[in-house]
Amino acid sequence: MSGSGTVRALGLCSGGLDSILSALVLRDQGIDVHWVSFETPFFSADKARKASEQTGVPLTVRAITPVYMEMMRSPAVKFGKNMNPCMDCHALMFRLAGEMMTEQGFDFLFSGEVLGQRPMSQNRTSLRYVEKHSGRDGYILRPLSAKNLPETIVEKEGLVDRERLLDISGRSRKTQLQLARAYGVTDFPAPAGGCLLTDKIFSRRLKDLFDHQESIAERDLELLKSGRHMRLDANTKIVVGRTRQDNEAIGRCIDTKEDMVLKVVDFPGPLVVIPYGGSDPMVMLAAGICAGYSKAPDDAPAKVSVQRGRKRRQVAMLGIPPAQSKKFMI
Ligand code: SF4
Repeated sequence: MSGSGTVRALGLCSGGLDSILSALVLRDQGIDVHWVSFETPFFSADKARKASEQTGVPLTVRAITPVYMEMMRSPAVKFGKNMNPCMDCHALMFRLAGEMMTEQGFDFLFSGEVLGQRPMSQNRTSLRYVEKHSGRDGYILRPLSAKNLPETIVEKEGLVDRERLLDISGRSRKTQLQLARAYGVTDFPAPAGGCLLTDKIFSRRLKDLFDHQESIAERDLELLKSGRHMRLDANTKIVVGRTRQDNEAIGRCIDTKEDMVLKVVDFPGPLVVIPYGGSDPMVMLAAGICAGYSKAPDDAPAKVSVQRGRKRRQVAMLGIPPAQSKKFMI
């Protein structure tokens, strides 16, 4: 509680309607609400920024990639259908928000989670799992479903009026849409979406990275977002640009000292990157794939430049047709 006696609450904000409503329901009770939104290469805080602008709820954005990656590597983590560790992700976010709660004098934490809305990550067991693993058991309020959940310490102590909280459950969005109208909230993003860890292809690439690379830099993760990804051997992966935008995005992720960059010399073609470089046979294979995706004629070896740092050389390789290089696709 602040010096003036006002109760202060810190909420996790995804920027979706449920996040927005959970804050507005508490603000209606005179609670001073703030939001925090966490960012990694897998999800951004852009929607939360928009929600904050629209509602006037102050927002703190924190980049948490190193600690998030540590969590992802933990053997105890429970993944969903893809590489999405939703329950451990929420538990981590609440743990980090809990640290802010202590540092900045908030009375409790809250989120827009709705009981039964997502069968795997928002059922009774998973909401409980999150609480237990957050280190803030009893101090996490879900205002939209509170009346369907056990009473928290926050409610028992009278910091929040439980009677004015809600009892929403299930997948229907009807009550939320009615509430949105009542609160005058007109602009909010479609539910779900936006987290790359729930994407099948991205998850496959991420898993490959975990399986083959001990230490993972942020730019390794950024690189997963563009181009075709091919694994040539246990130590060598290549990324092949598909479009000009891909080539530009890949170019922005290159570590010029570490990576090898391949390009067909006399014809338009993709940018191909071998992150952290590769052996000569792998470079030749990558050059063949590079030529195969280029406009170079397929009946003669194409000149391909191979650059690493300031060192540049040229190799000549017959293009490998995409139908043949498809087998390397991650
Ligand atoms: S969808 Fe992504 S951001 Fe959301 S809880 Fe799951 S892992 Fe975390």
